[in-house]
Amino acid sequence: MPKDSHGRDINYLRISVTDHCNLRCVYCMPLTRLTFSPHEDLLTASEIAKVTRAAAQVGFRKIRITGGEPTLRNDLLEIVSGVASVDGIEDVSLTTNAILLPKLAVPLRGAGLSRVNIHVDTLEAENLKRLMRFGTLEQIQAGIDAAHEAGFRPIKINAVVARDYNEEDVVAMARLTIERDWHVRFIELMPLGGGECAGVALSQYVPNPETFARIESELGMLEPVVAADPADESRNYRLPNARGVVGFISPVSDPYCGNCNRMRLTSDGKLHLCLLNDDEVNVKEALRSGASEDAISAILLKAVSAKPVGHRLEDGVSTEHRQMFQIGG
Ligand code: SAM
Ligand code: SF4
Repeated sequence: MPKDSHGRDINYLRISVTDHCNLRCVYCMPLTRLTFSPHEDLLTASEIAKVTRAAAQVGFRKIRITGGEPTLRNDLLEIVSGVASVDGIEDVSLTTNAILLPKLAVPLRGAGLSRVNIHVDTLEAENLKRLMRFGTLEQIQAGIDAAHEAGFRPIKINAVVARDYNEEDVVAMARLTIERDWHVRFIELMPLGGGECAGVALSQYVPNPETFARIESELGMLEPVVAADPADESRNYRLPNARGVVGFISPVSDPYCGNCNRMRLTSDGKLHLCLLNDDEVNVKEALRSGASEDAISAILLKAVSAKPVGHRLEDGVSTEHRQMFQIGG
């Protein structure tokens, strides 16, 4: 398994397959002045498969497909089956807003997808409209149902918490875990890219200890659940007699950089070394000039060894060139 220069084992590659999205969450994607990568700059399904083979060769074991909204790629099934069939890859998951899952969940499972993480910030329709702007709760609910019927387990739900939008709705979301074996995870806002979304992330930030206290005061004690995977960025708990799990992803109030096991690949073919930092290594150039898999593996190892030790949000440092929809979370 590749180790970075800070002794961390890096075995998890998050692949963004598009910077387009059918929603416009207020903290992720602005409504105007958007620039997208030209179509010819996006890595193709076969280029993504090649990077995955090169990654598996040097010890990467987990892949997440993300975006933008990955389900907007017409060739998503080809991408997933290309990645899932690589020797050495043990787990392929997808992060999605679920809107297109009713038609895609079954074929995605057939293509070799292991798990889905579904993003929905609130169960209150009006608040959802303010936060995620397009799309409805009914559409996302239909997507969750489709994922469940297709056999994806456990269903993981990601909710970003934003002050004056949904900070009180966390209780109803956590309550879902009592009857269902879902993992409902609350994510702290992070500012990326310096634009209006970064502004929302800074001004509406809610620390997860506040969300934790709100849930405990309404629903009872949260008992810690031992992490199956030490690199899991979510600190997990269970409500009294609950079937599912409540998780807290706290990059700001409780950074998990020391356990980071990730490398990211942007849809335009750059290895992005740390979510909250602009450092990148170009892999597309090598792919398009006919580099061998061994050469791509060497580029991956170089990127791993150049990973920064951690983020510097507390010093006001984040990405300047990339917004969240251009990296994928
Ligand atoms: N469109 C898919 C989705 O929404 O799940 C995948 C891409 S989205 C960028 C991945 C994750 O990033 C989502 O769970 C979303 O909640 C989270 N996210 C987006 N912007 C964020 C921000 N500024 N701070 C924290 N999380 C953010
Ligand atoms: Fe789209 Fe996901 Fe960003 Fe929302 S968080 S705008 S669904 S990419």
